[in-house]
Amino acid sequence: MTKTAIAMAAFFLTMEVTAAVPTAEAAPCMIVTLTGVQGGPPAFNGQAGAGTLVRYGDDSNNCGTVKLQIDAGRGTNMRLSQVGVPPAQLNAIFFTHMHSDHADGFADIVQLRWHFNSKGPKIDVVCSSDAVSQLGITVSCKKFVAHIGDAYLHSGEIAQRRSENNDRLAGGPAELINVVTFEPKNEPQVVWSSGEVKVSAVRSAHIAGHASYRVDTPAGSVVIGGDAGNDVAAPPRASSTSDQVEKLAKGVDVIVHTAQHPVMKDSGMPALIFYHQSAPADLGAMAKRVGAKHLMLTHLAPPIGAERVGPWKILGGPLTEAHYRKEVEASGFTGNVVVGTDLASVRLPAK
Ligand SMILES: [Zn+2]
Repeated sequence: MTKTAIAMAAFFLTMEVTAAVPTAEAAPCMIVTLTGVQGGPPAFNGQAGAGTLVRYGDDSNNCGTVKLQIDAGRGTNMRLSQVGVPPAQLNAIFFTHMHSDHADGFADIVQLRWHFNSKGPKIDVVCSSDAVSQLGITVSCKKFVAHIGDAYLHSGEIAQRRSENNDRLAGGPAELINVVTFEPKNEPQVVWSSGEVKVSAVRSAHIAGHASYRVDTPAGSVVIGGDAGNDVAAPPRASSTSDQVEKLAKGVDVIVHTAQHPVMKDSGMPALIFYHQSAPADLGAMAKRVGAKHLMLTHLAPPIGAERVGPWKILGGPLTEAHYRKEVEASGFTGNVVVGTDLASVRLPAK
């Protein structure tokens, strides 16, 4: 053997030994990010509409193996771009209910995915099967999804852009969606899973077909309540929160929930609307009972700093973060309280 050959052999031997030494496994992690905290349909101060991004993975990929978006209100795509998540990277989008303040941003996301990723996998959209309200109104996530690209089909854009790139599907963004519907029940049921990530749902009160979700991962768990309220539509009742959400949240690490401050009622919001959401103090009490470590208030009504919400002027002037925090603290919940702002995040485990 020449000197060089000996050196080479020694080098490869070293390589082999190095490769054989087991490396410490990258630790699993989960990040929960509020992509928008606007409460209800009004536009205010650049806040994005309701939505939560849940990422799960490990340290080596910044918790980025699985990416789930729950609700997609106005501006969701813009917020996702700020955390480096293009539409093509989302594994699934879940809807809590068919109100536009939770769905305004959906067309933006799926149209962009269609534009550049028509040849990629379909995106799962998970939501309730058609639900009929007490007034006989049918609420249909399936139809919403099926018709999401209709305006672009009718304007001619789908055909025009397809003429530039034949990869683009002729049916528009709806053709790139796999709809997964389920019948919301009072008991949690698994509605979606991928590897170690499992998503469960329960029925909750707000409008027909409303569902709340729980994501379980080896790094931790999160419940997204959506706009859930108690099945008993108005006081007297034990709590404004949902009993089913509480069942879903037993032992969960993080609760993300719509919060409506009591000042809304004093400011003239009709009882019919007011009582269909949960109060911050009741959410704190629920978080305490289930042993949650983090409570993230989102979809704040009123938004922090807002003079009014739609037609209702806030009695006593705009609220601050402290107003919400005080409500939760009164419940005796001693965990971490996040009064939501766009892109506020909780990482498990904390870094
Ligand atoms: Zn809402």
